[in-house]
Amino acid sequence: METSGIRACQSCGMPMSAEEHFGTEADGAPSKDYCANCYRNGAFTEPGITIDGMAEKCAAVLSQLFGIPAANAGEFAREQLVCLKRWAGREIPLCGSCGMPLARDEDAGTEADGSLSTDYCTYCYRDGGFTEPDLTRELAVGKYAPMMASHLGIPAEKATEMVRQYLSTLPRWREQGPG
Ligand SMILES: [Zn+2]
Ligand SMILES: [Zn+2]
Repeated sequence: METSGIRACQSCGMPMSAEEHFGTEADGAPSKDYCANCYRNGAFTEPGITIDGMAEKCAAVLSQLFGIPAANAGEFAREQLVCLKRWAGREIPLCGSCGMPLARDEDAGTEADGSLSTDYCTYCYRDGGFTEPDLTRELAVGKYAPMMASHLGIPAEKATEMVRQYLSTLPRWREQGPG
């Protein structure tokens, strides 16, 4: 199968990279969109689950991993889930540099010819180039972690860990080695 790096499960948002992370279609082929927890043999493992139910499950994992207070974790999980194909009805692309959902035209960056970018947001990418071309992954972690810490009410070091892990799944930062 073609693995173009890491992909988020379009039901729960879990990053999938290894083949065993992917769910399976009825014919046994790997699912393009869903993880092994959410989707097996061509069907959702929990067909009746609502977005709130899924947010609750994801929030529990986030709380445990990063010490996020339950209420904040629930809200954060929901913000992520609304961009996924299972809940939005279509897959909403995420900015490959900062992870912002490109839900509307005005969220998208612009190419040199003025057309909208399908890969990057307007804050990261304009006129065919990055707005901060010298940004490295670690600098980006330093930039986004404080926002994440205050947004989620978690300590700076937990936010740093979370943002570093998240950015490493995005196309702009994936190629860079650790550090
Ligand atoms: Zn999933
Ligand atoms: Zn961006």
